[in-house]
Amino acid sequence: MDFQLDEGLEDFRQMVRDAIAQDLPPRLQERQRRFAGNQSEPGDTMEWTRILAGRGWTVPHWPVEYGGCGWSPMQLFVFQDELIRAGAPDSCWGGTHMCGPVIYTFGSEEQKAKFLPAIRNGDYFWAQGFSEPGNGSDLANLRTAAVRNGDVYVVNGQKIWTSCAWASEWGFFLVRTDPTVKPQRGISFLLIDLKSPGITIRRIPQINGEAELCEVFLDNVEVPVGNLVGEEGQGWTYAKFLLDHERTTSSFIYFNKAAVELAKAVAASRTLDGVTLDRHPRFQGRIAQLEAEVTALEWSVLRVLANEHFQYPEAAAASVLKIVGSRLQQALSELHVDLMGAESLRLYPAEVAERPIRSSLWSEESEYLTSRALILRAATIYGGSLQIQKNIIAKIAFDL
Ligand SMILES: Cc1cc2nc3c(=O)[nH]c(=O)nc-3n(C[C@H](O)[C@H](O)[C@H](O)COP(=O)(O)OP(=O)(O)OC[C@H]3O[C@@H](n4cnc5c(N)ncnc54)[C@H](O)[C@@H]3O)c2cc1C
Repeated sequence: MDFQLDEGLEDFRQMVRDAIAQDLPPRLQERQRRFAGNQSEPGDTMEWTRILAGRGWTVPHWPVEYGGCGWSPMQLFVFQDELIRAGAPDSCWGGTHMCGPVIYTFGSEEQKAKFLPAIRNGDYFWAQGFSEPGNGSDLANLRTAAVRNGDVYVVNGQKIWTSCAWASEWGFFLVRTDPTVKPQRGISFLLIDLKSPGITIRRIPQINGEAELCEVFLDNVEVPVGNLVGEEGQGWTYAKFLLDHERTTSSFIYFNKAAVELAKAVAASRTLDGVTLDRHPRFQGRIAQLEAEVTALEWSVLRVLANEHFQYPEAAAASVLKIVGSRLQQALSELHVDLMGAESLRLYPAEVAERPIRSSLWSEESEYLTSRALILRAATIYGGSLQIQKNIIAKIAFDL
């Protein structure tokens, strides 16, 4: 089997690599090291988005008419791989990968004109307002209500686990516009300005010491009818479209590759019983095993991109990739912690500005790897939990 990418792609990779090396400020690269595998600080994301916009590279996967680059799936893969490899901040996934595609596929011309350039240029950070207390996996039964009153919807309810809502200007929300029909048919998709009167956002303290997740309370919030995407009552269809979009990018392959390299570097820099950890029997096999699994995952992702779906429908293949990718993220972050030994007892949340003075006792990576391992416990929950992914596979691939 030939594991090389073809020559054209290698040229493309080099071109992207050179461009990122030229554009990426070392300050952002340094800060991103603390976040990688999780997400970026919203301010860093927006700064980097505006830099990438200079090359027209913020939404390369969109159709060309809306600002995409017309690259092949393999080129998009290489581009994303290079961004993570270089330590660039993440894009604002909510805009570029979630509501952006929903807007250009189902939105009005006014919405396209207003929001698509803003997403491309990094004007707004976007939050995803889907989950509610008691309605995460069971999303179809969501209760946040939007009642039409003239040319506005009046929205009341509560969302939870809304990533980075505290730093977001806009959110895309699922709301119930008709409580009398089958749950899936009474849901609509609304774009909401998070500075609207009646919105209260509360950050939720996390086990890793950060507070990116939020509760969003909506109390008689007036949303212009023009912010309804597509048709009233079709929100569930748009949400499924969006979540399918999210899932195909949820193998975390780029982060997993970076995590393998980091594990090797951390292992090579520490000794036990007189040998470096990458050669110590306690770790050598474990590192090799995880590296092999990440390589297998990468080739599985490439097969899906090449339209080989393991004989099963694409949605089932995407769920397999999500399960394997999220579990590998957790296994690799646990390996990082074990490699650090007693140093992993430190916990410095990524957003803490003042770093302790480094010494020979405490390495740089000990400042963020424990925090990362703790938040990655959530990798098998967000974007559809592990159990829900298994249900999807059972249903779609095996007709159970
Ligand atoms: C870090 C993080 C970021 C998130 N960001 C966002 C965001 O930005 N926007 C947003 O809207 N949501 C977000 N979420 C919420 C996420 O989508 C939900 O947590 C997830 O869908 C699970 O829902 P839940 O928390 O209500 O758990 P529940 O649905 O109550 O599930 C609890 C447990 O029961 C299992 N379970 C539930 N139903 C079934 C079933 N039918 N069969 C088998 N097992 C089942 C689940 O797998 C899970 O183990 C985020 C969550 C996390 C942890």
